[in-house]
Amino acid sequence: MQTDILSLTYEELAEKLGALGQPKYRAKQVFAWLHSKQVLDFAQMTNLSIQFREQLGKNFYINEIKIRKKLVSQLDDTVKYLYELRDGEFVETVVMRYHHGNSICVSTQVGCRMGCSFCASTKAGFVRHLTPSEILGQIYTAERDLGEKISNVVLMGIGEPLDNFNNVLTFLELLSHPEGRNLGMRHVTLSTCGLVDQIYRLAEKNLQITLSISLHAPNDGLRSQTMPVNRRYPIDELLAACRAYADRTGRRISFEYALIDGFNDSPAHAKELASRIRGMLCHVNLIPVNRIEERDYASSSQQSVKRFAQVLESSGINATVRRTLGQDINAACGQLRRDEKDRGGCVL
Ligand code: SAH
Repeated sequence: MQTDILSLTYEELAEKLGALGQPKYRAKQVFAWLHSKQVLDFAQMTNLSIQFREQLGKNFYINEIKIRKKLVSQLDDTVKYLYELRDGEFVETVVMRYHHGNSICVSTQVGCRMGCSFCASTKAGFVRHLTPSEILGQIYTAERDLGEKISNVVLMGIGEPLDNFNNVLTFLELLSHPEGRNLGMRHVTLSTCGLVDQIYRLAEKNLQITLSISLHAPNDGLRSQTMPVNRRYPIDELLAACRAYADRTGRRISFEYALIDGFNDSPAHAKELASRIRGMLCHVNLIPVNRIEERDYASSSQQSVKRFAQVLESSGINATVRRTLGQDINAACGQLRRDEKDRGGCVL
């Protein structure tokens, strides 16, 4: 059985190479080929002896994920990839181009079991967790394809990252390793629907990543209607965990709030939200809800969005309205799917 070498931490790699009779410094060389130069073939590791490269090929494989479709938005250059994994499953990944650099939105699971009613990622059910190499591979493959580096990573694609805790943590360790891709944790945002126990576990790790909470409602009555996770972890418990995270890490919490016309977008809802999060080191991102075909939610009007933001601001809560990117290629929040069927847009 060959081992997925891209999913091994530096220490695990060193241990496995040691067991093959290799000296310690080999791990550093191989790790750099994998994560810094990002080669896909042991034959390309030209500073290693041919025998050692063959030995690597016998014992390990480099997990490659394939681009099956690539859609480029005509509106804003957002790129959406449909990737095929080794076992034939699919996930989607989005690259957003900003003046300050490229941001990538990666998936962490094939499908999702959280069941939020407004989100397309959950509609075809849950299949499996992604491995660390499959999460990393989404970034490395996009970088190779675009010929550009990614400067920010958001775990906001398909899946619930904290439902795949160990693999996501290994992914973060690999991504930030100084001998490898070396991306600072401050350039990473992890978004969760609110798995409270795992938020405490994450806080314990004291990483410098930004924690983003998909809140979407100011009270349990409304939140439980659209987000089943709220029945298990109600808002008070969630906000207590957020405070613990902010206290421990010193990092500002980011709350996501998708505005649905007539459901959660009134000034009274804004006041209620403000009263619950006041005093916390936080920021609110307002997103007019994006359309998915299974649901007929309407997006809040620009006027309601503006009013909502004003009420938050006047209650001392920092709020911004998020620009929606990639609308013509279904690349916006909540529109990513695991299914190959039913995908619109132009194929390049
Ligand atoms: N499971 C994680 C990661 C997914 S991130 C989470 O829930 O945070 C995707 C983000 O898009 C989440 O904030 C999600 O709530 C939001 N979202 C889902 N469907 C949406 C929609 N139709 N319009 C706007 N945002 C949506």
